[in-house]
Amino acid sequence: MKVSKCRICGSDNLALVYSNQKYKIFKCLLCGFGVLMPYLKIKKAHLIYQENYFLDKKENYYLSDAKRKYSKAKKYFRKGGKVLDYGCGLGDFIGECKRRDKSLSLFGFDISRYASVITSKNYNVEVKTGILSKNLYRQSFFDTIVSFDVIEHVPNFEDLLVKFNFWLKEGGYLLLTTPNIENWDAKILGRWWYGYSKIPEHINYFSKKSLRMLLERNGFEVLEIKTWGFTRSLDFYLFKVFGMFSLSKIGLSNIGKINIFLPMVDVFVAAKKIGDKNE
Ligand SMILES: [Zn+2]
Repeated sequence: MKVSKCRICGSDNLALVYSNQKYKIFKCLLCGFGVLMPYLKIKKAHLIYQENYFLDKKENYYLSDAKRKYSKAKKYFRKGGKVLDYGCGLGDFIGECKRRDKSLSLFGFDISRYASVITSKNYNVEVKTGILSKNLYRQSFFDTIVSFDVIEHVPNFEDLLVKFNFWLKEGGYLLLTTPNIENWDAKILGRWWYGYSKIPEHINYFSKKSLRMLLERNGFEVLEIKTWGFTRSLDFYLFKVFGMFSLSKIGLSNIGKINIFLPMVDVFVAAKKIGDKNE
């Protein structure tokens, strides 16, 4: 199977940047967008996100990530506004919003039925699940939509942005995070980049340029786009991200367990709806 054209800019100038026995990633040399081949079929997407997928999502550093995301996101919330967390997972971010701003009306969506039930129960919010459809929410219903670490998983990502646009009020905000295939660490680590360890869940690999093009043609103005990252234990970085050693294995587990935030792998984008993009 081969890709012939970039889905973002239409260029046919593509380069193979990663391959293993089963998968390849082709990157557009014009806009930087990378695509996994073979690509995930929409009908099979939900099969990945069963209970096992969420097993390691209960570590305490996910809560630190939620706090950091809240600090970044809060300036895009309106007092008393409606906020959708699309791809809410186990609800860490929704929980943090609830604790920090009682005025918000919070809503969640997750493709995983398992995650949606847990989040709805733990945080007493409406969490929808199932397939993407315009009818999930009313037109112009939300003040802010956040979708953290989602777009890299979604086969029909352009369709998703059309729906976000439809559900947002005029002037409403869309906040995204996703790995950046052109981040400094991707350039240094090459095919050993941590972003490539999420195959086959991650099927889309955006650059800042390709994200901007995608958002602008779907009725959004990009307000900020900057390097983001995540909180993990020191051991996680040493062992899983940089492929070195584990401090726990040499008797230094207390140091290995220290949680740190590193600005790498990901990009954060805030965009504003500036026009309708209806189907
Ligand atoms: Zn391109």
